[in-house]
Amino acid sequence: MSVPIVRSVARLRQIVAAWRREGEGIAVVPTMGVLHEGHLSLVRAALEKADRVIVTLFVNPKQFNSQADLAAYPSTEDEDAAKLAPLGAHLLYAPDAEEMYPAAFATTVSVSGVSEGLCGAFRPGHFDGVATVVAKLFLQTSADFGFFGEKDFQQLQLVRRMARDLDIPITIVPCPTVREADGLALSSRNVRLSPAERAVAHKLPSVLLETAERLARGSPVLPTLAEARAAILAAGYRDIEYLELRDEADLRPMTSLDRPARLLVAAWLGGTRLIDNVRISRVSTD
Ligand code: AMP
Repeated sequence: MSVPIVRSVARLRQIVAAWRREGEGIAVVPTMGVLHEGHLSLVRAALEKADRVIVTLFVNPKQFNSQADLAAYPSTEDEDAAKLAPLGAHLLYAPDAEEMYPAAFATTVSVSGVSEGLCGAFRPGHFDGVATVVAKLFLQTSADFGFFGEKDFQQLQLVRRMARDLDIPITIVPCPTVREADGLALSSRNVRLSPAERAVAHKLPSVLLETAERLARGSPVLPTLAEARAAILAAGYRDIEYLELRDEADLRPMTSLDRPARLLVAAWLGGTRLIDNVRISRVSTD
């Protein structure tokens, strides 16, 4: 069995309308391709929840703030389709940039608050690009459920906010981060790591987890974060864009653990930018 590939909005709408007539529930899993187990875990979760699963494959030019990064983004559509078929995904929606953004396209969806700081501070325009394309994908597919990875936690919260604010009738389903055996979060960017870099890359999640545990046990926030930054640099990372404690729901900065929080990091290992995050809930000392 192969997975049908659709490239136009019009054809997608025809297929979705036929599914709707049958009363079927629809899930969408947005991706930029180069599928790995992280993406596939989203597809499996979607198949459990909905009758029909649309995986989208679109390398969205609007969310790249560097042309070089966009040009370097790999394209592996045939391999991606081959990975989806055995899972039972129903459709691969892979429009080209002209289909998504026809001439004279002029609309931007911009979400304030959750998009500020963290990756938003280092990748100008990135989250406007994400919000715009995800809003379009939700409207094009009219899906009931959208599946997103916690790996990109700020993106997940941005998409939730955007869907609520625009009254898009979709339920966002978060999925846990899938990791390599040594703890490194799966990412399409991991292939860019040299063998030496790959050998130390896992120290980012290990410092993150250890720091989360210390904070949960009541360690003071600012000195603990300073020690974590030093440990990440000592492990071989060359630069830390951010390592921050944020409110899990609205991503506001936090300086004490009085509500559920997330510890989020972006750091450069050689020429590769890696991001990760973990949840922290305060351990009761009663
Ligand atoms: P991308 O193709 O990088 O835009 O990612 C598409 C979706 O897969 C997003 O919702 C990501 O959060 C999710 N994703 C990427 N890596 C992982 C991972 N290691 N575990 C879980 N979900 C992931």
